[in-house]
Amino acid sequence: MSTFQELGLNEELLQAITDMGFKTPSEVQEKAIPILLKTETDLVALAQTGTGKTAAFGFPMLEKIAIDSRTTQGLILSPTRELCLQITNEMKQYGKYCKGLNVVAIYGGSSITEQAREVKRGAQIIVATPGRMKDMISRRLVDISKIQYAVLDEADEMLNMGFKEDITDILSHTPDHKNTWLFSATMPKEVANIAKNFMINPQEITVGNKNESTSQVTHEYYLVNSRDRYQALKRLADLNPNIFSVIFCRTKRDTQKVAEKLIEDGYSAGALHGDLSQNQRDLVMRSFRNKQIQMLVATDVAARGIDVDDITHVINYQLPDEAETYTHRSGRTGRAGKTGISMVIVSKSEVRKIKSIERIIKKQFEKKDIPSGIDICEVQLMSLANKIDNTEINHEIDPYLEHINTLFETTSKEALIKKFFSVEFTRFYNYYNKTKDLNIEVSSERDFDTNENTSRYFINVGKKDGYDWMSLKDFLKDVLELGRDDVFKVDVKDSFSFFNTNKDQQEKVLSFFNDFKHNGRFVNVEVSEDKGRKGNRKYRGKRDGNFGASRRRETSGRRSNSQSQSRRSSNGSTGSSRPRRSRR
Ligand code: AMP
Repeated sequence: MSTFQELGLNEELLQAITDMGFKTPSEVQEKAIPILLKTETDLVALAQTGTGKTAAFGFPMLEKIAIDSRTTQGLILSPTRELCLQITNEMKQYGKYCKGLNVVAIYGGSSITEQAREVKRGAQIIVATPGRMKDMISRRLVDISKIQYAVLDEADEMLNMGFKEDITDILSHTPDHKNTWLFSATMPKEVANIAKNFMINPQEITVGNKNESTSQVTHEYYLVNSRDRYQALKRLADLNPNIFSVIFCRTKRDTQKVAEKLIEDGYSAGALHGDLSQNQRDLVMRSFRNKQIQMLVATDVAARGIDVDDITHVINYQLPDEAETYTHRSGRTGRAGKTGISMVIVSKSEVRKIKSIERIIKKQFEKKDIPSGIDICEVQLMSLANKIDNTEINHEIDPYLEHINTLFETTSKEALIKKFFSVEFTRFYNYYNKTKDLNIEVSSERDFDTNENTSRYFINVGKKDGYDWMSLKDFLKDVLELGRDDVFKVDVKDSFSFFNTNKDQQEKVLSFFNDFKHNGRFVNVEVSEDKGRKGNRKYRGKRDGNFGASRRRETSGRRSNSQSQSRRSSNGSTGSSRPRRSRR
């Protein structure tokens, strides 16, 4: 292992590194810094967040630019405002002994005039989000025509967020001979295309394997009924009294709902999603960093920039649509050499996705049980005992001690301890005493695969309409707004096809295709009653535009019955409220 001196960094940077307490270079720094210092080259670096990649491109950029010039020479593009601010902050710290250095952050939601003014003062390095950057270029408020180094940080996420055109546009305003350094946690096709189209013979480095999760993170999943998801979340939080976590939901609405319920139930929680104003988001992030919030409930997009080193748990309240997104989520924990746990709460119909995530992260999940009420009581009790043991005595209580001592004059130490702990124990015991076991079992390997929890459909388009399995899957995924893994087992025949989704998507699929025309023709989708070959035979040869309309009505009638039943049962269950958790 080399030292920062051996990597060839100058005195100013080494001094800042000492001040920051960095002892040895991280793997990505060890690999990237010598290449970027010694050669003028493009670079593709595959590295997770939290591996020290900001310094991996930051140190060489600071070393190579001319600080005594006021021209903008370095441009760093990042997906979110939060990340943009973090990078700016880090760069300022790294360059604190580089006299005359001006690093400016450019991002949406803040005064463009003020940002333009800062740039005008002479910014050697600009750190920007793509949207605002493009805006400022078009208003001629920045000049990036003399950029020598362009960094695309978290490139996969920028593309995921739809910034491809903005990035292309921004890069078109930079000189051709600049060096481009691309950093990405994963390497989907879109990122590889950017590397191919915008970079010249880039050198490649990989920290860990592509898409692989960091070794510091262990992965667990908990199998429950969908309706018990929230109860399961609470138990996981109660089992870890010192939890400091990010909880991921799929939608802004769920994010807000889960955060509100947690707050109502006495947890220190907060929501982070795109419907909040910038001020609200800043406030929540500040509280989270200060650890006034223990559980941050967030959407994937809003959580992109979170760079908090001590996160103990990532909880996937729902799994993401794309398996790759899981890598980003779990990368929020296990940072800066610490260990972390990524937990997933799954229903039976989602268990299949665990397998595809395992393939991507190249790690096994451990299936664990949601703790029972009594397990939680025990953990809470022991946590309280430890807390008391570690508590420093506050002498402000001295004046009251005489009165308290009189009250317990005849109580033995043993009885006093019992009474004291019963206060906390009874609170949890009363709540958890009558709650049920939330765990369910997968009945067989089939649950991991398809059948029981999936629906198979007939659709009246096929090869004759120009589809193969891939293009039909893409078509279905797009029109139904489903994730890549949500449409599977696509089997295209000449004039019709079959495909599967999880059963909980069935209603969405059927109602979407209830009255859907494509290229002037009705596209019909029917549930195929038999999951396998028998089902295929049943529909062979039928492709008339009105196929099965009456059956579809029957099916939807059955659906609404079962729906109202499940509503009844979910109203009837649970409902008990938890003891309020003491706020920190
Ligand atoms: P990053 O991957 O750039 O977001 O960095 C994650 C965290 O690790 C940040 O808080 C950095 O300040 C910190 N860090 C970066 N490099 C090192 C290092 N060599 N030693 C210790 N901490 C580091």
